[in-house]
Amino acid sequence: MSITSTDYVGRFAPSPSGDLHFGSLVTAVASFADALHENGQWILRIDDIDTPRVAPGSADRIVHSLAGLGFEWAGAIRWQSQRLAAYEEASLALLDQQLAYPCRCSRRDIELISEPGREGPIYPGTCRLWNGLGDGQRAIRLRTDSALISFTDRAFGRQQQNIEHEVGDFVIRRADNLTAYQLAVVVDDALDRITHVVRGADLLLSTPRQIYLCELLDYETPVYLHVPLAKDANGKKISKSDNASALNAREPLSALQSAWRFLGQPALDRDLSSPAEFWVDARDKWSVPALATHAQNTV
Ligand code: GLU
Repeated sequence: MSITSTDYVGRFAPSPSGDLHFGSLVTAVASFADALHENGQWILRIDDIDTPRVAPGSADRIVHSLAGLGFEWAGAIRWQSQRLAAYEEASLALLDQQLAYPCRCSRRDIELISEPGREGPIYPGTCRLWNGLGDGQRAIRLRTDSALISFTDRAFGRQQQNIEHEVGDFVIRRADNLTAYQLAVVVDDALDRITHVVRGADLLLSTPRQIYLCELLDYETPVYLHVPLAKDANGKKISKSDNASALNAREPLSALQSAWRFLGQPALDRDLSSPAEFWVDARDKWSVPALATHAQNTV
């Protein structure tokens, strides 16, 4: 499928903490179908920054599964592990401008001093005034303010969050020296000139933090489309790290069709016989309004 436009750049960014499963396939299908429908480019990035959670071999297996399912990405695969210098540069810029500060609180300290929030304990800014002297490992936190961050998600509609009150100053570099997801994703999307982010609704509450980081780092903010999460029989998000079962590689077309139905999409031709035919039809029929109706009925 050819790339005809450069004003849409989308991406799929799986973490290689396990094999591709139905939940991540749903996100991949939404993101690729949206890019195809918009005549955009679509990039594949492997989010392998969180090295302790990387499952050996899973990145290769994810890439192999995606290829077997007919996904086609533009250019070389991007790897977070090859971008450590860019993350470091961004966190130093934030530290230099006093927009971020070192924090020596342990997980236990944080539990004792913080109110619980929807995204975990709301850090009350205890280390904001610490001079950073002394030994020991420390995380780097972003200093938040009480401005309301709002954005319009293409499926879930208007969203707003006061980051300081609802999340608190958040970690951009962890005490183990790894760049935190929130910062890495923003740097990556800027490096790849991503214009449209399509991903799972579990990241809806992270989006204001990422928009705030884009503002501070002077990056363009992408447009967001969050897709409903596939849940297991107990109503829990299907997650790679829970060893959720990998997809059956022998039935790629039926896996794609199930993901399509899960996304509340219009009926496809009945006689599709291959992933390639699926994508031709999906490119044509992809409907964000249908997804939005479905998304709003699932929350
Ligand atoms: N790597 C993240 C995940 O697999 C997704 C990052 C993103 O789409 O922003 O959940």
